[in-house]
Parts: sequence; structure tokens; C-alpha cells
Amino acid sequence: MSKIVVIGAGPAGCSAGYHLSKSGHQVTLIDKQSFPRDKVCGDGISFKSVQALFPMGIYPQDIKRLMPEFAPIDGLLLGVSNGSYNLHNTELEGYCIPRFAFDNLLYERAINAGCIALTQSITNLDRHPELYSDFDYIIDARGVSAGDVDAIAIRAYWSIKSEDFEPYLSKAQIYFDKILGINGYGWIFPADTKSGLVKLNVGVGIWMDEYQKMNTNIIRLFDQFIQRNDRTKELLSKIVAKHKPKVYPLATAKKGNKVSNGKILRIGDAANLTDSLTGEGIANAILSGLYVAQAINMSTTLDLAAQNWQRLYQAYFEEEIRAGLRIKSLRKYSFMNNMLIWLMKRNHRVAEQVTHAIVGVVPYNELLPSFRH
Ligand SMILES: Cc1cc2nc3c(=O)[nH]c(=O)nc-3n(C[C@H](O)[C@H](O)[C@H](O)COP(=O)(O)OP(=O)(O)OC[C@H]3O[C@@H](n4cnc5c(N)ncnc54)[C@H](O)[C@@H]3O)c2cc1C
Repeated sequence: MSKIVVIGAGPAGCSAGYHLSKSGHQVTLIDKQSFPRDKVCGDGISFKSVQALFPMGIYPQDIKRLMPEFAPIDGLLLGVSNGSYNLHNTELEGYCIPRFAFDNLLYERAINAGCIALTQSITNLDRHPELYSDFDYIIDARGVSAGDVDAIAIRAYWSIKSEDFEPYLSKAQIYFDKILGINGYGWIFPADTKSGLVKLNVGVGIWMDEYQKMNTNIIRLFDQFIQRNDRTKELLSKIVAKHKPKVYPLATAKKGNKVSNGKILRIGDAANLTDSLTGEGIANAILSGLYVAQAINMSTTLDLAAQNWQRLYQAYFEEEIRAGLRIKSLRKYSFMNNMLIWLMKRNHRVAEQVTHAIVGVVPYNELLPSFRH
């Protein structure tokens, strides 16, 4: 049995804490906030995230118990700024759950598995020599604050009356509006459904390289997106309550990530594991917690654990990250978004493949070859 400290109790840290405790290790799970806590997010729990939860003993029925703090997503609508869009219905399990509720479910699993919870902020690990002396392994799961920020996003909650709820609002809507540059996008996801109101998560995300070229800020971009997009304009007229939008950075995936520095094993956003194409990070965060636990379980020393975690990262994440980056680079041609919607409208199989790739059922590597058939 080893003594392990996990710093950060988001999806990555809770997953690592859960699996390591279940394997018989003594795990201390530290977070700067006490739970339940909010996290700025699109709240989209994709099919890949749903699957990633199974090893933690969390199944769709457990998620559904979070009612009314969840909404099922039953399709994906991809749209471009000229009003053209493709809607693909799907029966894949996918949800929109405010992170306040979702992360708490994972946190409870980790604590019930045996993790010792501590509320403390650890900003600079090197200023805490006790971590190195008291624990055999240190896992950094502090999210984007420990990763390399390369994107920025803003999220707002809008409530409309249930009677104004249109069926298309139960889809995850993603818009490549021109105002957001070549790789940015705006979203409308359904969130919870309580007390006669439907809460929608509306936001915009943009990669830093693009954002820095624009003479604007993210709040202004969000306003412009709302004013120019037909769906958001329509929703705006129905809003009965809205929260002040919140801005938050992202640490998306890069080629050749180093997921440990020898002494510290990094997971989730702290290791830049968010999907570089979609900005979706929950699935990889949860999976990285599982694999880092496996790396520790198959090792006798810290050095071996670091090597094994890097190997598991190579085996399970690197190829998909590279394929995502290849597709992202294709989007630098501005006609690509329009062409994608055009193709999806005309070809059901393409629409299904793209939808399934976005929710994590079809690997990116298989997406481009599938267009040829
Ligand atoms: C606006 C926005 C929208 C997004 N939408 C989606 C989406 O719809 N679907 C999706 O899958 N992903 C989405 N993501 C990405 C997703 O939020 C992250 O990839 C995911 O939360 C990463 O999980 P994590 O456990 O690595 O980090 P986090 O969830 O960020 O957890 C990190 C934890 O570490 C704690 N912590 C931080 N610093 C310290 C410290 N110094 N000391 C102690 N504790 C600390 C924090 O309090 C937090 O609890 C979005 C991100 C943004 C910004």
C-alpha cells in the first residue's frame, strides 16, 4: 500500500482517487474549494464521458437520479452563420448536467471509496516540501490552473419557461459563426429542467491564437454571437432569468505531451488533455484518473510509475490527439465549416459519423477515411 496525494478534486482527481483507494492505497484528496462547488463549463456529458464513468460504478441510472439537475441530449445540431444547419438525432446517452451536481457525484464516489478529503489551496507544489516527504506519489489534478492555457471560453445560464421549450432545444447545438473566427464556436446546451423552467447553457469558446488576432474581448464576442445568431436572438426574446456570464480558460491537448515531470504525475487539464478540436475535457479527465492509477499499480517506484503513465498516455490518448489536431488544422480554410454542413445535409452517413466523432464514439482517425465511402 502506498501513500498518495491527489491535488484537485475535479473529474480527473476524483477518478484517480476512487481507483487508487479501491486498489487499497491510502489517498488524500485535496481541493481548494469545499464541495459541492461550481465549475464554469458547457456542462456537456458526452457519450465518451458516460462510458468513462462505468469503471467508477456510475451508470446512466445514477446520472438520471441527479434530476432535476440534468437534461438528456438527444441529438446534435451543427450550424454556420448563414443560418444553414444540420440536425442529427441520436439515441446515444448524452447529458447536460451543471458541474455543481455532476462533480459532486464523482466527489462522493471518491470519498465513499476511502479518500481522505482536505480543503487547502496548493498553488506552488515546491513550496510544500511535506508533500514530497509524506507521500510516495503526488498527482497533480488542479485543472487548467496547472496546465498550459491555450483557449478561452464564456458561459451563461438562460432560463425560459417550459411551455416555450421547443424540441430542438433538447439537442446540443454548436454554431461555427464567422464572428468567432475559424476554430471558435458558440453553443446552446439544455441544462436542468426544474420548477417549470428550462435552464440553457449558452457559451462561446475560442482558441488563443485566433483570439489574440482579434481586436476584441470574450465578453464582446459573446454579445456579438448572441446578436448575430438567429437561434440565440429567438431565445433572447423568451428569457425569464439569466445569470451573469462567467469566463474561464481551457488547456487543450498538444502533440507529445509530457504527463509527468518525474516526481509529479499530471492528469486531466493539468496535463492538457482536453480535446483540441471540441474543447471537451471531462471524458479524458476521468480516463486519465483511471490510467494513472493503473500506472501506479503496475510500478514499484515513482520513476517506473512516471514512465508507465507516459506509456499509457501514448497508448490511449496521443493518437487521438494528433488526429484531432489534423482535423483542426483543416478548419483553417474558412469554407470547411460550410462544406461540412453541406455534406452532412446531403449524406446521412457523413452526418452520423461527424456526430458520433464529436461525442466520442467514432475515433477522429476513422472520420476522414469514412468520407471516402
Ligand atoms: C467554458 C467551458 C466549457 C466547457 N465545456 C465542456 C463540456 O461541455 N464538456 C466537457 O467534457 N468539457 C468541457 N470543458 C472542459 C472541462 O471543463 C475540463 O476539461 C474538465 O473540467 C477537466 O477536469 P479536471 O478534473 O482536469 O479539472 P477541473 O474540473 O478544473 O478540476 C480541478 C480542481 O482542482 C481544484 N484546484 C485548482 N487549483 C487548486 C489549488 N491551487 N489547490 C487545490 N485545488 C485546486 C479546483 O478547485 C477543481 O476542483 C469546458 C471548459 C470550459 C472552460
